[in-house]
Amino acid sequence: MLNIILFGPPGSGKGTQANNLVDHYGLLHISTGDLFRYEMGNNTPLGLEAKSYISKGELVPDKVTIGMLKNKVDANPDVKGYIFDGFPRTIAQAESLDSFLAEKDCEVTALVALDVDDDEIVKRLLNRGLTSGRADDNDEEIIRNRIGVYNNETAQVYDYYDKVDKSTKIAGMGSIEDIFDRLKGAIDDAK
Ligand code: ADP
Repeated sequence: MLNIILFGPPGSGKGTQANNLVDHYGLLHISTGDLFRYEMGNNTPLGLEAKSYISKGELVPDKVTIGMLKNKVDANPDVKGYIFDGFPRTIAQAESLDSFLAEKDCEVTALVALDVDDDEIVKRLLNRGLTSGRADDNDEEIIRNRIGVYNNETAQVYDYYDKVDKSTKIAGMGSIEDIFDRLKGAIDDAK
């Protein structure tokens, strides 16, 4: 199985590149952000809980997020592998993912991080907010909070997989095609 963690700050282009990777490698894309938005759109209890965190730019608690992720993986067992987008975002989530995959006799193949600087991110997210309908993309204060959470809680996940030589960083600036080429290079090296 090819299990890729697509990593990087909010607005770094993970969703865009995940779609390219799905077509190229035939993997299942699992975005926890998309799963939460689906639940919020249907006003489910999980969605209502998630909304109270997402609207402030905070992380949804690990227990809720991990449970939702496991359900999605378990519902789609017959695939070549997964692209995890927006997960894991904390060390606890990374540890859960590792033991969950180990139970299935597989593991994370590689974490590939898109490197984009903070000013570019704010610009991209405000721009996306004009059309995405996402309240968390419309307010610069919420965006800055998400970047702060990324730096304080999520960035460590890179180091966690770096310790076992699974992390790679690629430049996330430039054209979508150029970034995709770099991504494929990093994944093919890790396979
Ligand atoms: P982005 O990468 O643009 O910030 P996402 O769509 O990945 O957006 O996530 C949107 C929001 O959903 C996050 O700001 C966070 O509140 C919540 N979220 C998504 N994934 C996770 C996760 N793994 N753990 C906790 N919260 C999450």
